[in-house]
Amino acid sequence: MNKFKGYNITIAILFLLLFSECSSKKAKANNKIAFADNCVVAHRGAWKKMGFPENSIASLKHAIELKCTGSEFDVRMTADDSLVINHDPHYNNLPIESTAYTDLLKFKLSNGEKLPTLREYVLAGIENNISTRLVCEIKPSEISKERGQIVAAKVVQLVKELKAQDIVVYISFDYDILKKIRTLNPTVSLQYLEGNKSPEQVKADGISGLDCHFSVFKEHPDWIESAKKNNITLNAWTVNDPNDMDWLIANGFDFITTNEPELLKERIKLSPVSNGMKLIWSDEFNTKGLPDSTKWNFEEGGHGWGNGESQYYTSRPENANIQNGILSIKIIKENYKGSSYTSARINTKNKFSFKYGKVEMRAKQPSGGGVWPALWMLGDNKAAVGWPACGEIDIMEYAGNRMNKVTAALHHPDHSGANPDGGYTMITNADTEFHIYTLEWTPSDIKISVDNQHFFVFANSSSIPFNHDFFLIFNCAIGGHYGGAIDPNFSSSNFDIDYVRVFQNK
Ligand code: MG
Repeated sequence: MNKFKGYNITIAILFLLLFSECSSKKAKANNKIAFADNCVVAHRGAWKKMGFPENSIASLKHAIELKCTGSEFDVRMTADDSLVINHDPHYNNLPIESTAYTDLLKFKLSNGEKLPTLREYVLAGIENNISTRLVCEIKPSEISKERGQIVAAKVVQLVKELKAQDIVVYISFDYDILKKIRTLNPTVSLQYLEGNKSPEQVKADGISGLDCHFSVFKEHPDWIESAKKNNITLNAWTVNDPNDMDWLIANGFDFITTNEPELLKERIKLSPVSNGMKLIWSDEFNTKGLPDSTKWNFEEGGHGWGNGESQYYTSRPENANIQNGILSIKIIKENYKGSSYTSARINTKNKFSFKYGKVEMRAKQPSGGGVWPALWMLGDNKAAVGWPACGEIDIMEYAGNRMNKVTAALHHPDHSGANPDGGYTMITNADTEFHIYTLEWTPSDIKISVDNQHFFVFANSSSIPFNHDFFLIFNCAIGGHYGGAIDPNFSSSNFDIDYVRVFQNK
């Protein structure tokens, strides 16, 4: 009996071993990383809305709860070679690099947490988390370049020891730190923060992503396309303004690093690209001076433009100028070629036209009795079939004499000139704040809105001329049938346009 008992115990242990082997395999399969399908990277964790300290474990845990695709944090090394999480080189006025870890520990974070070590931070980050990347910023050493390399090697070693390689992404302002990590781990994601290298340059060095201040991409808009072409991931920091978020979302950024992850999630929901559309053409007006001649034509002249208007349209920078990301169409009271006012009118004819989609334009109205700005479109076939047979879609018209009243109109045979189909809405601060003016155009509907509120919806059909290519026109008139009486004291005013984006279904 006893002999058999020992045998039974051996079999039981074998079974147990087999069973535990199966269950650990199962656990591993269940823990397979599936990063959240959004572009939200919480900057120093998700701390702001909840009032957590930046870079605290509480802020990391909250970013994971929010299902951000990444949570960023900063690593520094103490005098006695402990890796700790803190953004600034000082912690409670103590210089981290020349202070021992135990001396730093005397001070708590504002929520009572101790200053986290990298080990504690990564362990907290891999606990019940398969969807949020740990975006690890390795700060360059202020003591020496070599110390930065040592920090990088220690971080990579610890991440390996904790089996967190698949969930950690490295970012740094120090290019050599990233290059060092590449030699230690040839497959890990690396993003360079400084913004002084092009996508082609980082690709040549085996760096897999750019993570730049968002202004860098305004200065180098071509980097967005070349990064996509070269398979370089795009990240931008630190993006807290909804307007900047909208721009980066529209341009398909892989990551957007923000102190406002909740707000960014809301903007993603509103974006056309989250609703099955793709940006097909845009002008962010991030160039300087006259509008980009590869995108826009000037229309010039002073003949009243069919509406008894008083301005002369020129192609001078005095009347159309881009500065600080804004195109300003400026109406000026001045004598010019027989007219008493100058302004500008630009169009995309023969350069860009499209059929169906969504147009978003962010603009601020000019002010003054008589001004008449418009964002509108005409059918490409106007020369062949004439107006109104070509169709006209007025997405936004406004008059300084009717403050805050925004109108939309469709001109087509039987409904044109003074009798178009259309609608209007009242908004606030039209000439002091930017608003978003939108057209949604499909074979079945034409919807026009301000700030995501539809105010004109019209059924499209094959019997009206809104089923062929149209081009865009931006202008500001003064006087005329719509603009009305010109204020004798008017001297000048700007019609400001921040961007125009055109999306179509994928
Ligand atoms: Mg950082």
